[in-house]
Amino acid sequence: MSTAGQVIKCKAAVAWGRGEPLSIEDVEVAPPKAHEVRVKIVATGVCHTDWEYLYETGKGMKFRPFPLVLGHEGAGIVESVGPGVTKFSPGDKVIPLFLPQCGECDRCRSPKTNHCRKNWDNTQMGVLADGTSRISCKNQQIYQFLGVSSFSQYTVVPDTSLTKIRSDAPLEKVCLLGCGVSTGYGAAVNTGKVEKDSLCAVFGLGAVGLAAVMGCRVAGAKRIIGVDINPDKFDKAKVLGATECVNPRDHNKPIQEVIVAMTHGGVDYALECVGSPDIMSAALESTADAWGTCIIAGWTETAAMKVMVEKILMGRTLKGTYFGGWKSVQDVPKLVDDYMNNRLELDEFITHSLPLDQINVAFDLLKSGKSIRTVISL
Ligand code: NAD
Ligand code: ZN
Ligand code: ZN
Repeated sequence: MSTAGQVIKCKAAVAWGRGEPLSIEDVEVAPPKAHEVRVKIVATGVCHTDWEYLYETGKGMKFRPFPLVLGHEGAGIVESVGPGVTKFSPGDKVIPLFLPQCGECDRCRSPKTNHCRKNWDNTQMGVLADGTSRISCKNQQIYQFLGVSSFSQYTVVPDTSLTKIRSDAPLEKVCLLGCGVSTGYGAAVNTGKVEKDSLCAVFGLGAVGLAAVMGCRVAGAKRIIGVDINPDKFDKAKVLGATECVNPRDHNKPIQEVIVAMTHGGVDYALECVGSPDIMSAALESTADAWGTCIIAGWTETAAMKVMVEKILMGRTLKGTYFGGWKSVQDVPKLVDDYMNNRLELDEFITHSLPLDQINVAFDLLKSGKSIRTVISL
């Protein structure tokens, strides 16, 4: 029997308040309104940013309202569409996008950026275009993290925050293209524009950093130095393309000095994938003068980083990346194709698979450094 037009009752992991573990609840998901799509989420990755919003909101993160359903690295199947939706039909395989691509605004029309701002203020505050969310629990509105909420069996997203992918794509793998892998990979190939035979250093070897390593390798970098305080990450980094790995704790001088010495003057590209202002400064100072580029992918919303002005005066470039510079709607299906054609790795990133009711275990695995990505099946 079709569920279109009806409220769907399903399970979701609800974050009732900052710092509290997620709680599996029966939620109600309302039908999609105009230009919205209701999606049955099949699989979702657990990203560092989910953890960070839950445990650091109001600290490293700006305040966002609770209760909310986290999750922004999901994949699923269209269940029904609201009025005015032309690009999606029930049964389509899709990836929800925390970064929209409306295709019409100045930014969408510019090749210089992927920063579409359609519904931006609302989705940042956990609601859709009409100022409300479609998820409720115990008669209370539950906010939708970044407008997505993939830690729910069903969610509703704007039709500009969704992309259709090929029907043979395995959702439990390609969900990683909804955030982490796309971000790190694009940080190297789009934002950094890493060149053949270049010297690179990647700080932080979680999913984002490992994907940056993969991007540097695909771009043809000659040396790729992986940097992490957790040496358990080094084997995976080498599988994905790191030519050597360094643990800052094995050295008694700052890591930037170690890297400058290793490379006789600094790397061409340094990618920060940790989210720490101190490491951002270290990454910048690891680059060669005259042309070194530092790309910041790690996330913090409230902190400032220290930049020695002379480092910039001498010719270095500092850049940030959001979702790896990809224009989300048009580029994510191409990344899915690349995975299906063995041009892009995803399987190596998935270290654990768990059901929704084990989602707090996925957070523990991430924070203890034991996982790269846990994929939650819904
Ligand atoms: P993760 O927790 O899996 O990985 C972080 C890695 O950094 C870990 O391996 C950890 O051991 C390492 N690390 C910690 N302190 C370090 C130090 N002092 N020196 C070197 N390495 C250190 O996280 P992730 O999911 O890969 O995300 C990485 C960052 O990217 C986070 O800040 C996340 O919020 C951010 N992010 C940004 C975007 C974007 O659009 N820019 C998108 C997704 C994630
Ligand atoms: Zn736009
Ligand atoms: Zn993420």
